[in-house]
Amino acid sequence: KLASREFHPEDTVIDIKGVKIGGDNLVIMGGPCAVESPQQIDEIARLVKTAGAQVLRGGAFKPRTGPYSFQGIGVEGLIMMAEAGKKHGLLTITEVMTPEYVDVCAEYADILQVGTRNMQNFDLLRKLGTTNKPVLLKRGFSATYDEFLNAAEYILAGGNPNVMLCERGIRTFETYTRNTLDLSAIPVLQSLSHLPVISDPSHGTGRRELVEPMSKASVAAGANGLIVEMHTDPDNSMTGDGVQSLFPDQFANLLKDLEKLAPIV
Ligand code: PEP
Ligand code: MN
Repeated sequence: KLASREFHPEDTVIDIKGVKIGGDNLVIMGGPCAVESPQQIDEIARLVKTAGAQVLRGGAFKPRTGPYSFQGIGVEGLIMMAEAGKKHGLLTITEVMTPEYVDVCAEYADILQVGTRNMQNFDLLRKLGTTNKPVLLKRGFSATYDEFLNAAEYILAGGNPNVMLCERGIRTFETYTRNTLDLSAIPVLQSLSHLPVISDPSHGTGRRELVEPMSKASVAAGANGLIVEMHTDPDNSMTGDGVQSLFPDQFANLLKDLEKLAPIV
């Protein structure tokens, strides 16, 4: 299989405009769950950059559990985030939910995110395989490692080698946390595959106070990067993810602490 270590013994390093993801590099992606306004994404981008992260995250298309919840602001959000990324010198990552939107998302963002609910949306994966765009593939919340790697295989088999795997927590019997961040996934996936492994302690725990310790644990376990939610006004964020979003000063302090574990390059 193309995703396997046997097929490709060396770590895959994805170079996006000089930012290297994979190997010994540590990449930090930060930003809101959803793009809400030009002011919001510009201010958060400034804070993400000042803290020392390399990538701005933000959803324009949101995969909400219920149909009556805020669904994201769509293409306008892509444009706002692209502008903020450019202005502050950050790469951008955003979620794409359907094959029809792959081209427009690829036009505005540097990395395309496949959400946990879409890990086995095979039409979407096949479409992403036909592009050369870096893809961050999130693990389905009930997916085994084998199912996860097979999902990545769909993208690789289509001819796109630029795939990162993201552990974002799985569903277990525990309800205190939103999900259970499976730290073992990091070394296991790295032993089975050459692809970079990114950890998402925000969705992995659903609780702000757990993001710092689980970020550190992820880096200690060998993660090639983190994707972390941060918001300037989490209590009024437009998705329910304010409760897991760091305040800007917490985000900045986290990156300072992480620098002691591994250089953020
Ligand atoms: C997100 O990153 O905001 C998101 C919806 O993630 P997930 O697909 O992991 O739930
Ligand atoms: Mn979110």
